[in-house]
Amino acid sequence: MPYLFDHLDLIRKLLNQSPFGLITDIDGTISKTAPTPQQAKVSPLCRRYLSCLCHHLALVAAISGRPAVEAKNMVGIEGMVYIGNHGLERWAEGHSELTKDAQDYPKIIKAIIKELTPLLSREGISIENKGVTASIHYRLCSDHQSAERHILTVVKASPQARRLRIIQERMAIDLLPPVKANKGTAILNLIQEYSLRGGIYLGDDLTDIDAFRAIHTASRNLDSQGFAIGIISQEMPEKLVTEVDFTLNGVNDVERFLKWMSRTVLEPG
Ligand SMILES: [Mg+2]
Repeated sequence: MPYLFDHLDLIRKLLNQSPFGLITDIDGTISKTAPTPQQAKVSPLCRRYLSCLCHHLALVAAISGRPAVEAKNMVGIEGMVYIGNHGLERWAEGHSELTKDAQDYPKIIKAIIKELTPLLSREGISIENKGVTASIHYRLCSDHQSAERHILTVVKASPQARRLRIIQERMAIDLLPPVKANKGTAILNLIQEYSLRGGIYLGDDLTDIDAFRAIHTASRNLDSQGFAIGIISQEMPEKLVTEVDFTLNGVNDVERFLKWMSRTVLEPG
């Protein structure tokens, strides 16, 4: 897959499109993977350049599987748009707004967590209540494959949990309301809301595939050109590479790229 730094001329050309939007995933993209989600921190360099880009682009947004308020606190830049819980939630005007079909799910998620907690009390497994979704983490387990199998078996045996959307991420299994909202639908909404003519999406995990596809759908149907950029790491799912236009190697490359982009939008031509 083409390495982004070998094709900066194409990005430079794309940046002439206006209004332009930069949309990024958080974990594994602008924040290095940590043993637990609580320990992860956004790279200070990424924060600096994103903050700079906010003043020059029509839209700078972060999309995450984390709750929207957590995404906002973690990145901490005023003027950015924050989409949380895989597109189910958006931070706006001081509070989180849930997408309309998901309103009843925080209660259901709470009940499911109560049911699953004693069944998943194995060493290294932790269940995170994210409001409208839940994540079951197993990064700290010694045998990742057997932990993943165990979690899936328990989840699928629960009549309540079985009705949810079950997503296998890296070292986590997510339980989501069975409504049609994901990073892709969130991006198509943003492209239309901001009338974006150009855009870039950065992401590193399976749930980002919906976002990559949305960027390509918009290029075909919405007169909005965009590139999907995959962040390569040792843990990156192989499937991801076939869905992106360009690649970058890890968070350090994202820092370098955002720096280049900030400079380029400041001195066009
Ligand atoms: Mg990620």
